[in-house]
Amino acid sequence: MQNWLNNRFIPMDYPGRTLYSSMEYKLKKMLGKKFRCKCGRVHFVPTKEIYAGLNAKERLVRFILKEGLGANALIVSDQNTFAAAGESLSEYLAENGFKTGIEIFVSRKEKLKAEKELALSLAKRLKKRADFAVAVGSGTINDLVKYAATVAGIPYISYPTAASMNGYPSSVSALSCRGIKKTLPANPPVAVFADSRILCSAPKEMRLAGLGDGISKSVCNIDWAISRLVKKEYFCALPGSLMKDVMEFYIRNAKRIASGNPQAIKGLFTCLNLAGISMVIAGSSAPASGGEHLISHFLDMMNSKRGRELNLHGVQVGIATVLTAKLYEELLNLDISRLSIEKLKKHYLRGNLPRKWFYKFYGREMGGEVYREFIKKYPAWSGKEKEILFILKNWSRIRQSIKNALIPGSLLEKILQDAGHPVSFSRLGISQKDLKDALLHARELRARYTVLDLAFDLGILEDFADRYLRNRIKLRG
Ligand SMILES: [Zn+2]
Ligand SMILES: [Zn+2]
Repeated sequence: MQNWLNNRFIPMDYPGRTLYSSMEYKLKKMLGKKFRCKCGRVHFVPTKEIYAGLNAKERLVRFILKEGLGANALIVSDQNTFAAAGESLSEYLAENGFKTGIEIFVSRKEKLKAEKELALSLAKRLKKRADFAVAVGSGTINDLVKYAATVAGIPYISYPTAASMNGYPSSVSALSCRGIKKTLPANPPVAVFADSRILCSAPKEMRLAGLGDGISKSVCNIDWAISRLVKKEYFCALPGSLMKDVMEFYIRNAKRIASGNPQAIKGLFTCLNLAGISMVIAGSSAPASGGEHLISHFLDMMNSKRGRELNLHGVQVGIATVLTAKLYEELLNLDISRLSIEKLKKHYLRGNLPRKWFYKFYGREMGGEVYREFIKKYPAWSGKEKEILFILKNWSRIRQSIKNALIPGSLLEKILQDAGHPVSFSRLGISQKDLKDALLHARELRARYTVLDLAFDLGILEDFADRYLRNRIKLRG
C-alpha cells in the first residue's frame, strides 16, 4: 500500500492541500469548459454545475433561471425516489412559478429496469410536455431520463438520491436492448444537484455499490491503455490520472463511507462524478467500464434470463474488479518465453464458436445480438496472429504499463472489506457455473478489448477461471 500511495500525483496545478479539495478543484476546473489536452484532442465538458450540499433545490432553481431552460419541468422518478426527494422538489418548483409535471415509474413486483423501450416511450412524453426534465433517483432513473431527453432533444438536470454509481454526469446511458446491456451515447445533464442529506439517508448498500463501481476505475483504465497498444485505439491519460486521487480517497475512507460519515459520502459523490466526467473526456465509457463491467453485465443477463432480481450494479462490479486485478497479476507473472504461436493459434481457433452455440446458450433473440458482437472480436487468424505477435514482441512495454497502474487485488479487496462490501460472488447468490461462464464468455458481449481478451489471447483465461473457482487464487469469502 505504501509504495502505491507514494506514487500518486496531483495533476492540473492544484493549489490546495487536502485530497477532497483537490478532487473538487479538478472537477470544477473542467465543468462547462473546452480545453486542449496532451492527447491531442480538445475536450468539452457540457455539464455546467455539479453541487452536493444543503441548498440543492435553491441552486437548481437559480440554475434554471440563469440558463433560461423554460417554464415547463417534468420530474421523473420512481415511487421510492419520489417520496425521498421528488415530491418536495416538485412542490418547490411549483412554488417558484414552474409548471411542473410528474412522471413516476411504478413497478410492483420487481425493480425498475433500464430498458431502451421504456426510455423511448418516456421521450415521447417529454417532447409533448416539457422544456426540460429532472431525473430524481439513482442509476436506473438517470439512464432512462438521459437517453429519453437526448431523443426528445431537451436538456435534463440530474438530481441524484444516492452516491451509488458514476454515471450521473456521463455521456452514455446503460440500457438493455433485447436483453443485452448496452452503453448508448447520450447527452450529459446540463447540471447535477444533490441534497447531501438525501445522499446520506440513502440505504447503506447504495453507498457500497458506489464504492464498488468506484474502485473499478483502477482496472478499466489499464484495459483502455492496453487496447491503445494492441488495437491502436485512441487513448487519453487524463482520466487515469484523475483516478489516482480518487483511489487514494477510497483507500483512506472506505470505513467512513460505510458508516455514513457525511463528509466521506460527499467525497464519494465527487469521486463518482470525476469518473463520470472522465467518460465525457474520453467520448466513450472506456475509462469507466472494462472487463469487470462485462462480467457484471453477463451476470445481469443470466439473472434476467431466469427471471431473477438483479444485484446492485456497483456491488457486482466491485467484486469483479478484485477478480480482474488478480487476473492482471497473473499476467504480470506470466513467462511468455514458454508460449508458442502454434499453441496460441490452436487455442484461438478452438474459441471460435459457431452461431448456433450462441442461440443455444443465450436463447434465440439474445444469442443473435451477442453473436454480432462476438464476430467483431474474431478476425481471421492472419489478423489475430499479427496482434498476438505484437503482444509477444512488446510484452515488456505492455507489462510495464500494467505494473505502473495496477493496484494490487489484495488492496482493492481490503477497501471492500473495510466497508463491509461483499467480496465473493457466492454472497450474491451467483452459482459457480454462472461465474465460470462469466469469466469465459463475458468478453464476447462487447467489441472493446479488455484484460479478459488479453488473458484469452495468451491462453491463460481458462486456467485462471478454473483455479479461481477452486479457490486456489486467494480470495476471501
Ligand atoms: Zn485528452
Ligand atoms: Zn459502472
